Amino acid sequence: MLDRNFKLGMDYALELDSKDSLKKFRSRFYMLENKIYMDGNSLGLCSKDALDSLQNMINQWKNYAIGIWNVEDSRYYHYSNVLAELLAPLINATPEEICVTGTTTSTIHQAVSTLYKPTDKKYKILVDDLNFPTDRYAVDSVVRLKGLDIEDTIKVVKSPDGKLIDEDAIIESMTDDVALVLLPAVLYRSSQLLNMKKITHAAHKKGIIIGWDLCHSIGSVPHDFKEIQPDFAVWCNYKYLSGGPGATAGVYLNKKYFGVVPGLAGWFGNKDETQFLLRHTFEPELNATSLQTGTPNLLSMAPLEGALKIYNEAGLDNLREKSLHITAYLMYLIDERLVKYGYSYDNPTDDDIRGGHVSLVHDEAYRISFALKAKNIVPDYREPNVIRLAPIALYNTYEEVYKLVDALEEIVADKYYEEFSKERLLVY
Ligand SMILES: *Cc1c(COP(=O)(O)O)cnc(C)c1O
Repeated sequence: MLDRNFKLGMDYALELDSKDSLKKFRSRFYMLENKIYMDGNSLGLCSKDALDSLQNMINQWKNYAIGIWNVEDSRYYHYSNVLAELLAPLINATPEEICVTGTTTSTIHQAVSTLYKPTDKKYKILVDDLNFPTDRYAVDSVVRLKGLDIEDTIKVVKSPDGKLIDEDAIIESMTDDVALVLLPAVLYRSSQLLNMKKITHAAHKKGIIIGWDLCHSIGSVPHDFKEIQPDFAVWCNYKYLSGGPGATAGVYLNKKYFGVVPGLAGWFGNKDETQFLLRHTFEPELNATSLQTGTPNLLSMAPLEGALKIYNEAGLDNLREKSLHITAYLMYLIDERLVKYGYSYDNPTDDDIRGGHVSLVHDEAYRISFALKAKNIVPDYREPNVIRLAPIALYNTYEEVYKLVDALEEIVADKYYEEFSKERLLVY
């Protein structure tokens, strides 16, 4: 394990950088000129590798037009499978259990409508009240489409403090009338990492189907799905995985469901052998690609191929080790230098229960986030008082973290944040 006897001072930060075994990967990314990027948890940076794989795909389009579906052994026709091979090691699943399709939101619609089979006695869907809203909107809409009452059907486990989820309360809420559970692996605000194995096993003991949203964990926290065996999972590929803005999402379907007719069926979910016979009877593909609806959106998929190669080359366990270390260093600096200026953090401190970002809290967080931007630092504000800071193992440095803390200190010490408005913008 990397040494955590942290010290103050820029020299020490530079020493940590010089010892960083992952430092060579930074040059593969387009770092923003004269800026410190701390928002790789919302939108990962563009890499040279991502542009290369995108360019390769565009060249095939340019050179072969409709022939693109047949060139290189039909790899673009099977592009979801190509990407699944690269994603599989990140969650230790078999590639056949992974499909790259749609958006995170649409894959929740897809997975839930495929697996949720309410009966009179077992029909409730268990969720938490801290998940990202789109997950809830999607689940509610499946319930509505089944003609069920949302109030009665959706069972919400409330967080005791608005920051963390109580795992035991979740497990206790798995009553006999619960049919399905959907939870985030890492909470987008507080960075809490749930014990997926424990919760999944508790659900299965009760005959409950369980799905995980990996948006804030994939590419940052390794998962072992061969051990956990969830029923399904969904994630976006544009956050830690740097697949590009709006990159096509990922969905995992446990192999025990292969052959199940998807909730949202489409011709690209049909078996390869009969797809182009264009029959009006749907035959699901016998793997997770059955969840694919229409033609793969190659433009939103191709950058992910290059990006994933970097993640696999670096090794997710190495990335997790640095991520835990650099975020621990940031927490150390907050403790030592920023608490006296009214800063604290909401995220858990134990390695086993925290994800890849630090959830910095301050009463003036909104205005501080604008002051940071004015100082060429890109943070990520979330209501009501949180600044998410994600030093990414592949490309951020300890020096950048140190400079970030310098800036956070100055902004409050000099009351610089007072120069900014409290008025909320449309997107922030
Ligand atoms: C980022 C995120 C999403 C995003 O959904 P999209 O459909 O990709 O826009 C969904 N859920 C969670 C938990 C997220 O963190």
